[in-house]
Amino acid sequence: MSRSGGMDAKVVIVGASAGGVSAAEALRARGHTGPIELIGAEKHAPYDRPPLSKQLLKGELLASDVALRASTHLRDLNVAERFGVAATALNTKARTVTLADGTNTDYDRVIIATGVSARQLPIRNSVGGVHTLRTLDEAVALQSAIADAKRVVVVGGGFLGTEIAAAAVALGVDVVLAGKASTLLEGALGATVGEQVAGLHTSRGVELMTGPAATVHQLRVKDGQVTGVEFRSGEFVQADLVILAVGSEPAVDWLRSSSLSLTDGVDCSSDCSAGEGIYAVGDVARWHNPLFNVSMRIEHRTNATDQAIHVAERILNGDTTAYAPVPYFWSDQFDVKIQAHGYLRGHDEVKVIEGSLDDGRMIAIYRTGGTLTGVVAVGAAKALRQWRGHVATKMDWHDAISLS
Ligand SMILES: Cc1cc2nc3c(=O)[nH]c(=O)nc-3n(C[C@H](O)[C@H](O)[C@H](O)COP(=O)(O)OP(=O)(O)OC[C@H]3O[C@@H](n4cnc5c(N)ncnc54)[C@H](O)[C@@H]3O)c2cc1C
Repeated sequence: MSRSGGMDAKVVIVGASAGGVSAAEALRARGHTGPIELIGAEKHAPYDRPPLSKQLLKGELLASDVALRASTHLRDLNVAERFGVAATALNTKARTVTLADGTNTDYDRVIIATGVSARQLPIRNSVGGVHTLRTLDEAVALQSAIADAKRVVVVGGGFLGTEIAAAAVALGVDVVLAGKASTLLEGALGATVGEQVAGLHTSRGVELMTGPAATVHQLRVKDGQVTGVEFRSGEFVQADLVILAVGSEPAVDWLRSSSLSLTDGVDCSSDCSAGEGIYAVGDVARWHNPLFNVSMRIEHRTNATDQAIHVAERILNGDTTAYAPVPYFWSDQFDVKIQAHGYLRGHDEVKVIEGSLDDGRMIAIYRTGGTLTGVVAVGAAKALRQWRGHVATKMDWHDAISLS
């Protein structure tokens, strides 16, 4: 067996979603001729996750509409599909991946694209009426639960919680959104922009609970069915449906017996390699992004594809070029599309330089140290593109302010 990379290497990709599928496609598009095996724990053909908390919850798309590709696409690319079977171990010495059905498959190169799973609260204990949202099956179950619900508590004021709250309110359900930060999306966008998002939710009928008092103390349960949430403040909120959107955990349990470093996701070098012949892409990958000089792991849809393309190129070229993107994400809240470029986490300052969410046009820029590190905008596509360019060139903050 060839231990080399190059066009005829056998590549095993673990995780059959945005990152995994993009890696297979990118390899073939660049002339890779060796065997490619795509292993996915879910029984479904690969599907896209962003619509799950938006159009699918609102009934605007069906489960069959969120497929990533046409059903024959991967077979047409001569990619061997092994869906409905999880990988359970990686042996980096023998270069094998073990699967839940007891079989092993060997590799020259392995790409880890196992994403993240929804974090649970220890209080959940499989109570009826308590849901999380990460997978298509969970989205379908949640959609039908919302249709039957009268009053919903969404726990978590991040992107997922806010999108679910927006979708549920649009369906005519009473929604209480509880986040323990001081305002919505504070961790992701900062308090100034977060306040505007909170204002948007309140104006559309979402009841907000924020701050430490909105931390869940326990669920109240009757006959195995949730009846409401008790908060740390002592307040009780009645609900027949509770949705937990309290973050995610990198899906790395299957790698625990391997020699890989797993601090928060799969620790990679700047080129996204994690060991000899091993790469990671998408939500599960933590790598050093030299553009921001930061070790990052980002859960953004477009990153899964871009990082997969980068890794495919490293496998084929046999080089160690660093992956240095300007991250991008979007979020749909009601009729508002929030878009962001850059790395906003841990920023030192946010400045809203134009408009507000209420106006339907808003631009905010972010400073880390002395540098412009991010931009968030609503309804300002052209300006957003220009600011993205300034983030990519690491514009000095004072220069950015004088431009604004
Ligand atoms: C509801 C929702 C809405 C989102 N909305 C947005 C948005 O608006 N904008 C945005 O930028 N991003 C959004 N995201 C994030 C985006 O979907 C992710 O960044 C993207 O899906 C990451 O792709 P991935 O391939 O890295 O991981 P995933 O999509 O998580 O896929 C990983 C796959 O690996 C499989 N797997 C896990 N463990 C194993 C194993 N041991 N063996 C085999 N297979 C395994 C999983 O079953 C899964 O299918 C959203 C995510 C969710 C859940």
